[in-house]
Amino acid sequence: MAAEKADVIIIGAGAIGCAIAYFLSREGVKVIVVEQDSIGAHASGYAPGILNPQVAVPEYLETMLPLTTKSFQLHKELYQQLVAESGIDYYFRQSAILTLAFTRAEAQEIKNKVEMLQQQGFKIRWLNGDAVHLIDSRISPEIIGAAYSEDAGELDSYRYVLALAQAAEKYGAEIRNGRFTGLKRKGARLTAVQLSSGDIACDCTVLAMGPWTGLAASSLDFPVPVRPQKGQTLRVRASGPPFATILAWDTNYITTTRQDALIYHGATHEDAGFDEEPSTAGRDKLIDSLVTMVPSLIGAEVVLQTACLRPLAADGLPIIGEVPGWNGVYLATGHWTKGILLSPVTGRMVTELISGSAASIPTEPFSVSRFNSFRS
Ligand SMILES: Cc1cc2nc3c(=O)[nH]c(=O)nc-3n(C[C@H](O)[C@H](O)[C@H](O)COP(=O)(O)OP(=O)(O)OC[C@H]3O[C@@H](n4cnc5c(N)ncnc54)[C@H](O)[C@@H]3O)c2cc1C
Repeated sequence: MAAEKADVIIIGAGAIGCAIAYFLSREGVKVIVVEQDSIGAHASGYAPGILNPQVAVPEYLETMLPLTTKSFQLHKELYQQLVAESGIDYYFRQSAILTLAFTRAEAQEIKNKVEMLQQQGFKIRWLNGDAVHLIDSRISPEIIGAAYSEDAGELDSYRYVLALAQAAEKYGAEIRNGRFTGLKRKGARLTAVQLSSGDIACDCTVLAMGPWTGLAASSLDFPVPVRPQKGQTLRVRASGPPFATILAWDTNYITTTRQDALIYHGATHEDAGFDEEPSTAGRDKLIDSLVTMVPSLIGAEVVLQTACLRPLAADGLPIIGEVPGWNGVYLATGHWTKGILLSPVTGRMVTELISGSAASIPTEPFSVSRFNSFRS
């Protein structure tokens, strides 16, 4: 017999679990968050925290744009309030992004995206090489031009996750160390969450275990096609003023606006299972892209190398919703390269789903049931 009870048990204290805990407990729901390591110990605590609401992949556009723009808006609205509630400043700021083109093919692709994003209402334009170098002369002379976009932001991810957790605790949430091992049910109804330390009775749980959420598939008797995608980053120290904008090129970016005055550079996209070890190959690849973008960084001192796992769903879209065949078991994962950006909207959506209030964002495209066909 389970000894204690909560309204909702959230598994995982990354950005997604903590955002859900924050929004739920703000509504007066009694929440327990269970984390096997520590708050923000994985990707959520190490991501460079770039908030880019643009959706440049045409096939994801219609589905993802309402989510990214709503979440970016929520970040803007939340910042002052969350800092006041938590006492933790996470240095949110609005930023511009320069997306660099080194080849004619890259320039053409970026120009096409500029047109597409302008049609969506983004403030973005193409600049030739001379105009880019007026913004920052340290950018490689090899570039042809760049897209300049004003609609982005950034924050310190680790402090942001701590702020969410701290504010949730102020509203009555409890965050504890423990490892999720399974679920108990009576028919379709959830009765308890099983932890390595024992069971907690509850009729509602949210599994927000990032790339590890897929491991719950056997407890759910439902497929959760989420896999880890490894991403490595570098933090380097170099002399000179910070860059005026975030710099992006292909899957690489550079940002310099953190309190520690370091240059954050990422990221690799690797298929390496659950391996979270930084590698020499990853480091070399990142130094290469760093110096390609800004040649004067050749002598920069590497201060930290990180390796973390993005949660990537089979179709590349977030998974947010109730698990078919269960009453009261929800998933919130698969946020891939945009989990920090998408955390507030996910917190809001899950709170609406659990409380039964009207959905402010359509949830259907992100439903768990879209994987029904994976059952066979
Ligand atoms: C290199 C890199 C750069 C990135 N840059 C950005 C960026 O600039 N902007 C952006 O928006 N996104 C970025 N992302 C993506 C973002 O970091 C992720 O999408 C996001 O952190 C996922 O959050 P999460 O809470 O789902 O997962 P996680 O942060 O992985 O948290 C899941 C938590 O669940 C816990 N857990 C797992 N299993 C169990 C269990 N059995 N019991 C208890 N607890 C468990 C884990 O310990 C972990 O703390 C980046 C990712 C990487 C790797």
